[in-house]
Order: sequence, then C-alpha cells, then structure tokens
Amino acid sequence: MDRKYLLERIDEAAVVQIYADGFDELPLDQKVLIWHLYKAALAGRDIYYDQRYAHNLAMRDLLEEIITHADGVDPATLAEVERYTKLFWINTGPYNNLTARKFILKCSPDAFAEAAVQAEQNGARFPLGTGEALPQLLHRLQPMFFDLTVSPIVTSKTPGEGKDILGASANNLYVDVAMSALDGFSEKYPLNSRLVGTNGALVEEVYRVGGNYDTQIREIIRHLEAAIPFATVPMADALRALVKFYTTGKEADRIAYDIAWINDKDSPVDTINGFVEVYMDPRGIKGSWEALVYYVNRHKTENIRKIAANAQWFEDRMPWAPEYRKEGVRGVTANAIDVVVEAGESAPMTPVGINLPNDQEIREKYGSKSVSLSNVNEAYDRSTSPAFRREFAWTAEEAERAERWSSLAGELTTDLHEVIGHGSGKVSEKLGGAPQNALKEQYSALEESRADLVALYFIADTKMVELGIVEAEHHDEVVRAEYEGYARNALVQLRRVREGTQIEEDHMRNRQMVVRWLMAHSSAIEQRTRDGKTFYVMVDAGAFHEGVGRLLADVQRIKAEGDYAAAKELFELYGVHFDPALRDEIVARVELLQMPSYTGFIQPRLEAVHSSDGREIVDVKISYPLDLTTQMLEYSGRR
Ligand SMILES: [Zn+2]
Repeated sequence: MDRKYLLERIDEAAVVQIYADGFDELPLDQKVLIWHLYKAALAGRDIYYDQRYAHNLAMRDLLEEIITHADGVDPATLAEVERYTKLFWINTGPYNNLTARKFILKCSPDAFAEAAVQAEQNGARFPLGTGEALPQLLHRLQPMFFDLTVSPIVTSKTPGEGKDILGASANNLYVDVAMSALDGFSEKYPLNSRLVGTNGALVEEVYRVGGNYDTQIREIIRHLEAAIPFATVPMADALRALVKFYTTGKEADRIAYDIAWINDKDSPVDTINGFVEVYMDPRGIKGSWEALVYYVNRHKTENIRKIAANAQWFEDRMPWAPEYRKEGVRGVTANAIDVVVEAGESAPMTPVGINLPNDQEIREKYGSKSVSLSNVNEAYDRSTSPAFRREFAWTAEEAERAERWSSLAGELTTDLHEVIGHGSGKVSEKLGGAPQNALKEQYSALEESRADLVALYFIADTKMVELGIVEAEHHDEVVRAEYEGYARNALVQLRRVREGTQIEEDHMRNRQMVVRWLMAHSSAIEQRTRDGKTFYVMVDAGAFHEGVGRLLADVQRIKAEGDYAAAKELFELYGVHFDPALRDEIVARVELLQMPSYTGFIQPRLEAVHSSDGREIVDVKISYPLDLTTQMLEYSGRR
C-alpha cells in the first residue's frame, strides 16, 4: 500500500502518521466504546502540558493565537514562530523530550511582539492574566521563550554535586520544595499530587475531583462513564474503579484500580488513562498524565502469547543468584495492539512498548499487563531510510542483516523486554516492595537496563526456535542483527543529545551503559575507525551473550538489594557521560543523511455518526489528518 508515513521534518524532528487499519473491521459496540475512551483521552491532554511546565498552556495559547491570526505578520517571523510551535507541540512544551533541555525562539523578542500585536488586530485572544494587557503578557513570558538560562532543564536527575534535583528541574510537580524538605515527610498521595512548599510547610495538591485539574478530570469521568455500558464485564469493573480513583484521589483506590485493570486480561479493547509513568519526576514518584486507547492485534499477539505462557521457564533460567528468582510467576498478560489515540505524555512522541502497573507490590502479587504498539512500530519502520543503517554498519553484510532482520529482531526484543524483563525477579524483603525508594534517581535507568538485558540474553536461546517464533536456520542471523544494532545504537543515539556531555533520558542511559560496559568487560564489541568515522562493531555474539548474562546478574543484585552506590557507579562510569567530539562526529554524519533524532506521531481521528434523533451512535468513522498543525489546532479547539 502506497501511503504517506513521513509527513514533514522540523529541524531534527520527524512527523509521521499512525494508521489503525483494523478499526473499520471492529464490531459497532467496540467502535462506540473506543469513541468514548477516545474522548476521555483527549479530555486530559492539557493536564500533562501543565504538569510539564507551569507556563506551558499560556505559551501554547499565545503561539496558537498568533499562527491562526497571522495575516500581515512578517513572513520571516511567522516562519520562525511556526517552526518553534511545531517543536513545542511535538515535545509538549519548550523542553526537548530526549535531552530534557530547553529550546528557544530564534527571532528577536521585538519581532515576536510585533507578530502578536498584528495577530491581536486580526482578532486573536490571548491568555491575559488579571489586569494584564498584551505587552505585560509578552514581558512575563519573554524569558520562557527566549532565555536559555532561565529554568534550563525540565528533569535534572544529576545536576552536579551540591545541587538539588528538585530545584534544578523546571517541571511543575514541585514548587519551592528541596529534597531536604522531604526528610521525614510522608506523602499521602505520592503518585497524583503536586508538592508545594509554603512558609516552611509542605502541601500536597491532589489531582482529583475538587482538587487540581478538577475541570479536566470531571470531563474524563463523564466520557469514561459513557463508555462503561459498551465494555466487557471486567473492563467495566476497571473503568468504574478508575472513576472512583479520579474522584477520591486516594492511594487505596489507585491500588484497587490497578488490580481491576490487571484482572481484565482478555478484553479486545483497552485503555490506559491516568497518572502513570514517573520519568519526569527526578525522584521517580509522581506520575505524568497520559492516555492510550487501543485494540488487540490478534495476528501479532500470537508470538507474544507464546513468550508469556513460558514466563516461569524464563524465570527459572535467569542468570542471577537463585534467591532473586520468583516462584510461580504468573499473570504476565501480553498483547500486540494498535493504538487509536494517545494523549498526554505518550503523544506526539510515543513509547513502542508498555508494561504496567508500576507498583512493584501489585506486580509481584497480581502480575502485570504488557502491550507492544504494533502500528507505531510499523510507522517507525516505514518512515526510516536504509541509508541510516548503511552509514553506521561496518560491513555491507551487517547493513544487509539489519535491513532483513532488524524489524523482526526489534519486535522480539521489545516483547521479551516488556513481557519477561520487567515482570521478572524478586527483590529483598527489606525494601518493602519499593526498590525505587532506595535507588532513587538511578532506579528507572537501572530497571530499563534489567529489562533490556533479559531480552538480549534470551533472544539467543534456542527456546525462540522451539516456540516457533524464529526459524532455526535464521536464528543466528537474527541474534547477530540484534546485537549489532544494539551496539550501533549506543553510537547513533548520541545524535539526540546535541548539547552538553551528559545523557539524561533513562532508556538512553540504559543502552549506553550496557554497550559501554560490554566494551570494557568483554570482547564482544570493538571501536574502530575508517575514513575518520567511528564504528561500534559487534565482533563476537557468544561473548556478547556471556557478557550480558554477567551484567544482568549484577544489575538484578543491585535492584534486589537497593544498592544505590553500585547503581550510581555503574551509570556514572558507563551510562551518563560521553565524549562531545564523538557526538559532534555522529551529528555531522546524520545531518548529511538528514536523519531525524526523534519522531512525533499524528494520531488517527475519530468521528461519531449519530442516529437521526441524535440519541444513538450508529457508526464511528476513522480518518488520518496527515498534518501536525491541523491535528494540534483541532485538539485545542482552534480548528
Ligand atoms: Zn521498559
């Protein structure tokens, strides 16, 4: 099928359309269910904007009003405002999603003010504060748009000796709170609150009905309730539990919801809607709001099910000390899914796999659910140029191997990571089910490493052939392609960190750490140079596999014992710092190839068709906007 995936490029970002081909074939009740969940997802979009940066919504309003009232604005200024606005949308604010660093408008403040004045004459309505006119608004927001030194990083997990991780982070999860103020303070609403320091006291502003984000949460609830009659029995239970949690905000109701959500294992449609991942919080405690709505891709789910059905087999063969092995591993539910819509933290930049809930105690008692986002993977693959692989492969054979197998190998690694990786292993009793409290800012990167290492370890196991997932004659090639690609990625990913000499994002830290550790402790990967270009060459798959096993044993021990010092040393040595000259070389090479560093995705669009009396939904139509600006302005009600 010849259709558009890559839609446009803005600096180092690509914009790609997601397709949900199976939607049209779904029965009407599932389409209607998805419609209500879709509305519930979009209803919470602004929550994440506000969580990410306190000035985000005002900045977005200002930008969108200018570009929709642009008659007579100087064309050069308008082009720059549009460039910036697109990056702002893709990253949900002025911070790059991967580097956590701020980016700014490159026109002058005067030119920007002129554009705003012109837009106001054209009827633009700006987000003025009380008693404020446009000049005061522009003055107030000027540092946010133009000054790189004001609140430079959204999440700073390693700000340097003596600096506070909360004070150094610009996000809106904490206001006037330092880590020292948290000693002896126990949060009643750890996941779903903002902490505010006032006159020496700490206040938890809870995200719930009657609390923070009341308007959006009520709207989410309204749509969730409309969805319930169309859901299966276990899904309806989960949705009711979610409504209750949104209403009370209480930890006990969050736990009840997590359990109800896990217990819904077989519904063909599912949703994630709430305060979920903790990456944005430098402490790793507070959840960023996100929503996804998806249906199961039956065909692709088969392989995942085979892996999930063997969870205990994998657990029994983990290369770590027996005391960290779990007995009776169960409840690892895994699906390949197609997303219909994503919002909040999962859009426009999206994960490719998800494993929830994050609550370690619930995972150990009730298991977890994993999904791999098939149509996102497809869109990534179809929008990637082959030149990308050739540039960083040492030989033509390596490039061909990647071309032929990396898609299959990548999907399999993601499945193993999510289905077996995160759900595996046991932690010491003394950690009370919460190793993240002991491992603090190191936890997320360590846990991602653990899941990646499990995947890299087992992809080479003959079990993959036995389960009928990989053919025997191709197994070695698939493994080799995966190991080679993994080694190359540690180099290629440096293009994403164009400033500074530190990696901030957890998945990137994890991948850097694994490869650099293997380079230091095994003979699996060699660094080579040719024509002034650097290559990470995977030369020995056996040594790679053996090294992964050794590292995995240690990473599991660190997690299980909450060994903060060891985690910190591992990432400080191998995962965080890099040579800026090497990065500059990589950036120059990808610039020549016009390769994007990251991708923002355009979501499908749904529209309900009502009966003539308007009381019933008789069909739901899906379409593909194929344009970032169109979708973003429609979401915020400006188009
Ligand atoms: Zn993960």
